[in-house]
Amino acid sequence: MADTVATMMDYPLTLNHLLTRMKEVYPIQEVVSQRPDKSNTRQTYANIHDRAQKLARALLKAGVGKGDRVATLAWNHGSHLECYYGIPAAGCVMHTLNLRLSPTDIGYIAAHADDKIIIVDDVLLPLYDQFKDNIPAHRTIVIPFGGRVPDGMENYEEFIETCTDDIVLPEIAETDGCAMCYTSGTTGDPKGVIYSHRSMVLHSMIGATPDVLGLSNTDCVLPVVPMFHANAWGIPYAGTMVGAKFVFPGPHLDPESLLTQFMTEKVSFSGGVPTVWLGILQTIEKDPAKYEALRGLRTAVGGSAAPPAVIRRFQELGITVLHAWGMTEMSPLGTVAQVKPHLAEKGDDVYFSYRARQGYATPFVDLRHRDSDGQILPWDGKSMGELEVRGPWIASSYHNYPEAADRWSNDGWFRTGDIVTMDDEGYVQITDRSKDVIKSGGEWISSVDLENAIMGHPAVAEAAVIALYHPKWDERPLACIVLKDGEALTKTELDAHLLDEFAKWQLPDDIVFIDEVPKTSTGKFQKLALRKQFEDWQWGKDQRMAI
Ligand code: AMP
Repeated sequence: MADTVATMMDYPLTLNHLLTRMKEVYPIQEVVSQRPDKSNTRQTYANIHDRAQKLARALLKAGVGKGDRVATLAWNHGSHLECYYGIPAAGCVMHTLNLRLSPTDIGYIAAHADDKIIIVDDVLLPLYDQFKDNIPAHRTIVIPFGGRVPDGMENYEEFIETCTDDIVLPEIAETDGCAMCYTSGTTGDPKGVIYSHRSMVLHSMIGATPDVLGLSNTDCVLPVVPMFHANAWGIPYAGTMVGAKFVFPGPHLDPESLLTQFMTEKVSFSGGVPTVWLGILQTIEKDPAKYEALRGLRTAVGGSAAPPAVIRRFQELGITVLHAWGMTEMSPLGTVAQVKPHLAEKGDDVYFSYRARQGYATPFVDLRHRDSDGQILPWDGKSMGELEVRGPWIASSYHNYPEAADRWSNDGWFRTGDIVTMDDEGYVQITDRSKDVIKSGGEWISSVDLENAIMGHPAVAEAAVIALYHPKWDERPLACIVLKDGEALTKTELDAHLLDEFAKWQLPDDIVFIDEVPKTSTGKFQKLALRKQFEDWQWGKDQRMAI
């Protein structure tokens, strides 16, 4: 008779464990939130735990249940962290709405996700008002983050007090959904990804390890990356798992406000897109001595490529930039540019050349790249192909969007749309993007959507929108327009035409008139030729609006 093999307990990997741990192990650890008036409020982990539990019970009492989507429209702050834990504890899926998108897109996304409840910061109600009528029946709860909940609206503080102790929180299976984000990083409609408790726990465990983000209970963490973008890169979960102090910046993402928080709260770890760090660097450069105390700060930078010169300059200032690559579909961590010791020994030039790459895969992320014929390419540092990924925190489909099933290959790998080389030590370098999108300050602009809208203008025969390098935003859109015979068009007229559909920061910064759009043999726009033609483009006035 075969032996019965006794292995380990079947213990579910759920966020509830992390929430309980917050109170049991780190009850007095601090969570600081900056309010719109710039005052800081302070909570403890125990307080966040208790309020998250109340939120979970209040949600159940309000009638939502397993798998229902409960959305947030909120800045980074302690109550948002309560939602990060409280909504999944009720068995619901926390859907973070990206407040940087146009009201049309947010309305589409909330309706597509079928959000049953929307928890919104009072200061974001003017934005919410612009799309709320496009969402089917839902309940709205307002966080008094700026201090005022308008009459007639439901106050989050009163809502969580509606919970009663007899409401039992549901059993959660590790495969249950816990959170959801939409990405607009590909052509077509925004697409949603649902993360499971298991995927989020594994992502947190690996994310905290020394050669990934390297978080510990000695850290003070300030995530600049919004909690509405790819779960703030998983930092709120990984950081609370290890018991780190948190400082949330609220709506104050300008360099001066961030630097003040870094200094006064003694922040040791942060994370944000390159645009944020470029702004911070410029402010530090004005008076480096003032910021001497920042030596030792580590920051994860990703979302778009971190410029090598910036990484180097920060290092001179004693600030370590950890370049990371990932995607909403990947929870988002994929690769981190840690330099292996034997490469670091080869001198500064080699060291910084590795720091500026996208890095090598974290444990449990499999990588391969394939050419346009589907051939798997060698890791020789030269062969270029589309990066494909596989792993326990990588989406297996989009939520209710079968049209995009071709993003997964027949053998289950996810096609990233990033064109890369990989070397014999696993380092990935992004060389191009097959996705027709523009990434400006870490947020996407769909060039195809812009083209379609521009071509809807009566004066326009054809239009191609291309991404060009911009020193502040990394990329900005340039519209290359072919006018109909005898027609004319000004930038102001085009802006007025586009503003119904796009946020102001998504509009092309400049327009240029051309005789025809270069095309491939199959009639597709040859954007590469246009990008080459205009690569030295000098941008006019900075058009992007800060929210
Ligand atoms: P998102 O889903 O909005 O986070 O966008 C993911 C995409 O952003 C990736 O597929 C890349 O195209 C781009 N991206 C993210 N991180 C980096 C990076 N470190 N360097 C270059 N591109 C990046």
